[in-house]
Amino acid sequence: MNVFPLLFRQQFAPAFQDGHGREIGYLRISVVDRCNLRCHYCRPETGQFHALPREKILRFEEIERVARLAISLGVEKIRITGGEPLVRKGLIGFIERLSALPGLRDLTLSTNAVLLKPYAQPLYDAGVKRINISLDTLDAPTFAQLTGGRISDVLAGIDAAQTAGFTPIRINAVLMKDNNITQATELIDFCARQQLELRFIELMPMREGMDWQQHYYPISAFMARPEIIERINFDIITPQGNAAARYFPLRDGTGRVGFIEPMSRHFCAACNRLRLTADGKLRPCLSADNEVDLRASLRNASTDDDILQLIRQTTAGKQATSTYVFDQSGRQRSMIAIGG
Ligand code: SAM
Repeated sequence: MNVFPLLFRQQFAPAFQDGHGREIGYLRISVVDRCNLRCHYCRPETGQFHALPREKILRFEEIERVARLAISLGVEKIRITGGEPLVRKGLIGFIERLSALPGLRDLTLSTNAVLLKPYAQPLYDAGVKRINISLDTLDAPTFAQLTGGRISDVLAGIDAAQTAGFTPIRINAVLMKDNNITQATELIDFCARQQLELRFIELMPMREGMDWQQHYYPISAFMARPEIIERINFDIITPQGNAAARYFPLRDGTGRVGFIEPMSRHFCAACNRLRLTADGKLRPCLSADNEVDLRASLRNASTDDDILQLIRQTTAGKQATSTYVFDQSGRQRSMIAIGG
C-alpha cells in the first residue's frame, strides 16, 4: 500500500475529528444486507426480513468512492462486513482495488466463515491480512439451532484462514444465557490450542422484535464463573488491542481472551468509527438510527467536495455516547441491515 499520502496527511492536514474531539480513523463498510446464516440475535425471523432490492445496494465503485474520500479525510482502517460479505459476487476484485487505495493502512473483514474455505487464500492475496470470524459455540447441535448452519463449514473456513496466513485470526462469540454460556470453556480451550484470539461479546438489542433481556448475559457474571476464573487470570490486564476490548491472559500462558461490553461498559469515549451500510447510509453510531444518505448524492451529479462535506457533517454530528438502553426503543434497523 502506498503510504506517502498518509505521511503527507499526518504532517500537514488537520485531524479528522468528530464534534467531541474524537479522532475518526475507522470505517466499517457493509457490502451486503443478506446472509447465509440465520442468527436469531442479528436478523428478524424469515418472512419478516426483506433484503433490499439490488438497485438499493451500493455498487462496488460507489463504495470505493466513499472509501477513497473517507481516507482522504483521515480514515486509515477499513473493515468489510455485512450481512455476510462472502455472499456478494465480485468481492475479491473489489478488495483488490480497495487495498490499493493510497493511505489505507489496514483492511480487515468479518465473516461467519461458512464460505471461507475457497475464499481464504484469494482474500489474503487481495490484501486482507487480518480476519474476524463469528463463532458462538463449538457444539454442533447448538450451532445449528443458533444459526441454521453447519459447524463443519466454519471449522473448515478457520483451517483455510490459518493456512492462508491471516494474523491474527479473531473469533467473536456473543454470550447468550441458556444457549452457549456453559459451552464457553470448550471455545476457550479450542482457541488456545489453535492460537486463535477469542473475544466474548455482550449481546446487544440489535434485532427487531427479539426478547433481548431473556438472552442477555453480562460479561461481569461470565467473569465470575468458576470454570472461567480457572482458565483466565483477571488480575492482569494485557495491553488493549483496541478501544472496545479488554484482554486478560490465560493462566496456562497459551494466549489471551478479550471481552467486549457494549451494554455494561461503554467505550464511546474512545470510539473512532463510522459505518457505511449496504444501502449507502453513513451511520455515526451503531446504537442510533441517525444516518445520512450518501447513496442519493453518489447517484446524482454531486462532486467529491459535496460528498466530503456530507461525510464531515455526519462525523461532526456523531453522538457523544451510546444510546443503548435495555429495550429496543428508538431503533428500527437490525444488525444484519447495518453491518456489525
Ligand atoms: N456475517 C459476518 C459475521 O458473522 O461476522 C459479519 C456481520 S455480523 C452482523 C458481525 C458481528 O455482529 C458478528 O460477530 C455477530 O455475532 C455480531 N452481532 C450480530 N448481532 C449481534 C447482537 N445482537 N449483539 C452482539 N453482537 C451481534
